[in-house]
Amino acid sequence: MTDTSKIRGKVVVITGGARGIGLATATALQALGAKIAIGDIDEATVKESGTDRGFELYGRLDVTDAASFESFLDEVERTVGPIDVLINNAGIMPTGKLVEEPDQITRRILDINVYGVILGSKLGLARMLPRGRGHVINIASLAGETHIPGLATYNASKHAVLGFTDTLREEYRESGVRFSSVLPTLTNTELGAGVTAPKLLRPAEPEEIADAIVGLIVAPRSKVRVTALAGFVSQVVGLLPAA
Ligand code: NAD
Repeated sequence: MTDTSKIRGKVVVITGGARGIGLATATALQALGAKIAIGDIDEATVKESGTDRGFELYGRLDVTDAASFESFLDEVERTVGPIDVLINNAGIMPTGKLVEEPDQITRRILDINVYGVILGSKLGLARMLPRGRGHVINIASLAGETHIPGLATYNASKHAVLGFTDTLREEYRESGVRFSSVLPTLTNTELGAGVTAPKLLRPAEPEEIADAIVGLIVAPRSKVRVTALAGFVSQVVGLLPAA
């Protein structure tokens, strides 16, 4: 059994938390006693979700804009408390053949999925390092280890997130700050709509991914891959080496 008691009182920031995996994770962590701050570029939806759930903080955050990100994190620390966990979750997944992909879409995917994660990790780390504790969780995808046709730029962005997160884990091993990644399978959200699950698999529910993220926070894990099969969910975890 997982001991979730250590989640109580933790301050957790989730980007792209207005809906989907981010909102399901926020909801699961709130139920375990965490203090939640969600930021999202979709201001109307983040406010609606935040009000509905009674989160500590919610508001507009554009992960591609350093000033917006910084001021959101400042507000969290001023009004909620020092950040314990930062989940870089915001992402987009336009599909299509590369030659038909407008250049601004290519850049937007990389801007949100890669730069947004790098920026968030950097800003989170700067706050956590002096305290010698904290946890940055970057949401990648199984697409970061495979090569799903029709998603070349997206696949590249998620490969980048995994390589980036693995590097920081190594670089800051002694710092007390953890870096983890999550590799969800196709999930039943707005982003996942329109993509068909591979044979023998089914789309996961956002709550199933949230459950894997909770496990990642409470156990000494560095990575969790989530695959949804007909009757159950498989989680394959990477373990952090003993401290
Ligand atoms: P979703 O579309 O339901 O939610 C993503 C949220 O990110 C939205 O609320 C959106 O407004 C927000 N967002 C987009 N651009 C932003 C920006 N610049 N700044 C702040 N917020 C922004 O998607 P989801 O399925 O919940 O995806 C969450 C994460 O999980 C993404 O990183 C995605 O790549 C990853 N993922 C999803 C699936 C899937 O099949 N749904 C599978 C693997 C990985």
